[in-house]
Amino acid sequence: MRIRTAALAALALLGACAKVAPTPATSGVTDAMIANPPEGEWLTYGRTPDEQRFSPLTAISDANVGQLGLAWSASLETARGQEATPLMHDGVLYVTTAWSLVKAYDAATGALKWSYDPKVPRETLAHACCDAVNRGVALYGDKVYVGTLDGRLVALDQKTGKEVWSKTVVPNSTDYTITGAPRVAKGLVLIGSGGAEYKARGFLAAYDAASGREVWRFHTVPGNPADGFENKAMEAAAKTWKGEWWKLGGGGTVWDSITYDPATNLVLFGTGNAEPWNAGAVGREGDALYTASVVAVDASTGEYRWHFKETPEDRWDFDSDAQITLADMVIAGKTRHVALHAPKNGYFYVLDAKTGEFLSAGSIQPQNWTLGIDPKTGRPKVNPEALYDKTGKPFIGMPGALGAHSWQPMSYNAKAGLMYIPVNVIGQAYFAEAGWKPSAQGYQIGLDTSATAMPANAAIRAAAMKTMTGALLAWDAKAQKPAWTVPHISPWNGGILSTAGNLVFQGDATGQFSAYSADHGKKLWSFATQTGVIAAPMTYSIKGEQYVAVLAGWGGVYDLATGIVAHKGGVARNISRLLVFKLGAKGTLPAAPPLNKLPLDPPAFKGTEAQAAQGARTYARYCSVCHGDAAVAGGLTPDLRRSAMIASPDAIRAVAIEGALQHNGMVSFKAALKPEEVEAVRQYLIKRANEDKALGEK
Ligand code: CA
Repeated sequence: MRIRTAALAALALLGACAKVAPTPATSGVTDAMIANPPEGEWLTYGRTPDEQRFSPLTAISDANVGQLGLAWSASLETARGQEATPLMHDGVLYVTTAWSLVKAYDAATGALKWSYDPKVPRETLAHACCDAVNRGVALYGDKVYVGTLDGRLVALDQKTGKEVWSKTVVPNSTDYTITGAPRVAKGLVLIGSGGAEYKARGFLAAYDAASGREVWRFHTVPGNPADGFENKAMEAAAKTWKGEWWKLGGGGTVWDSITYDPATNLVLFGTGNAEPWNAGAVGREGDALYTASVVAVDASTGEYRWHFKETPEDRWDFDSDAQITLADMVIAGKTRHVALHAPKNGYFYVLDAKTGEFLSAGSIQPQNWTLGIDPKTGRPKVNPEALYDKTGKPFIGMPGALGAHSWQPMSYNAKAGLMYIPVNVIGQAYFAEAGWKPSAQGYQIGLDTSATAMPANAAIRAAAMKTMTGALLAWDAKAQKPAWTVPHISPWNGGILSTAGNLVFQGDATGQFSAYSADHGKKLWSFATQTGVIAAPMTYSIKGEQYVAVLAGWGGVYDLATGIVAHKGGVARNISRLLVFKLGAKGTLPAAPPLNKLPLDPPAFKGTEAQAAQGARTYARYCSVCHGDAAVAGGLTPDLRRSAMIASPDAIRAVAIEGALQHNGMVSFKAALKPEEVEAVRQYLIKRANEDKALGEK
């Protein structure tokens, strides 16, 4: 009897334990340390929980940055886009690379301490919109946390890199990927996912840092009402949707920003587009909550607190996922605790961080999807011409789906009140696909991208290319106006670091890593990286010596999808390295390996025009997201115009239907494509290759 009572008591205790809040770390990296880090360390993705990415270090300054040189570099074996921000604790630099590998280096010498490979199946690439990228780890207690492309959250031992626990976070591995950096708060590890271009239902989930137990999960869109709602927030959100949104998941994925605010115990995060982009294709009307919004939930419970809808009627892929920065700002004589946000839609928002109240917005680049913003509510007046599914006409949108600003981190100098923003200036033609239906595989956006593909016309190409640029923008957050701008040749430049040494660091699409004066944007120093830089730099200090580190390695969705534009910076090739700089160092990089570009030497086009037109549509829907607009590849994926495979119907069928290259990431499209459609794509590729050869391309 006594034994039975004891067993029951133990069971009851077990039941109670399942609901007990996780225990915050008391040694190693603690919440207190993350909130107030040693000057020389970089303990969380945005350096501090407020995600300001500002370093108080001053040893490297505008007076001496000209003496900056390469201290050491490490070659990364993953030749894909490198988007991670390294973290530094206790003299060790923790870095993630493409394919979600984690590496720990001696931060002073560059000696590799350990490396961890989660062995992500390479075919996962076919379900990833935006390359095999990863943006970094979280440190907490004695562990390192990483989200993997195939949807796991993994805890590693900080000292050895050995796996402690691994949990599958996503509902399935065909619609969801993880590329973002986890964040930690009070014993919880927070992570979301990507997938709003597939059939994903967005969420933010919290796991017990010690055990990996899931503690809470907040969905960003409601599920099928027939199944009942998980909470009141889902019930309220369901009223803002029309049609049968749950059949495509709904989208609204949380693929980048997660900001824990110790002042309010809220977690703020941004959500992606509703699925599909083309609202009319599924009868979507209205706000479709909580997509394209900033959302706040209680950190302890995951319960909804507030949301701010940035892009109502979104059909332009205006994800709100970009970094959310917290700051205190005097507005109308009163100190306000604010959230600063520059989502894809082209506006810069200042919101009350505790309540979500709209305080102000400014336009960081020319835009045409609104006719202005209500200064009281922050709601935009949507330009009727932008509703391309209703007008039936193409809409040349500015910004486009790449966003005026995407995941590339910003940096905020609170003293100057300046936010340094990596801005893209690139529009996009949106054109609804007539009679669009979801398919069994691939991208599900509802646009006819074959109709808007770059034409094989030198004059049109040149004119279009000229409009596509980028900038390093210093934005006065309070006045909502630019302080200064450094123009860039190409869109898709690197994230930003600013320091108390009056410096701003940024790498760019032309393969330069540069330092600018923070007050005026004067270029003071640069280093040739041999490859485009898209990641954000960070800085740390060891024994009084300051270092600046950045991952170089061109890639991401821009390289994959934009076709000829991907080459505008001139170094659309990937040479993946970790670069670390310090004053007086004289290191050099190994010579860049020769570029093995296959010649443009296609067979003669012998197909029919109808076949080529069908092939163009099929290519645009299924192939262009990785192999490039109008069949022009960036630097990562094979350029199919140059592939020997286009000479052979059997070879292309073996790959596209039978999955011969599945283990390289090119899966079979058997579920979506018939053999005759693959043959039509081959004819289209031959036609395109001949057109470009006629234009003089070699
Ligand atoms: Ca999106």
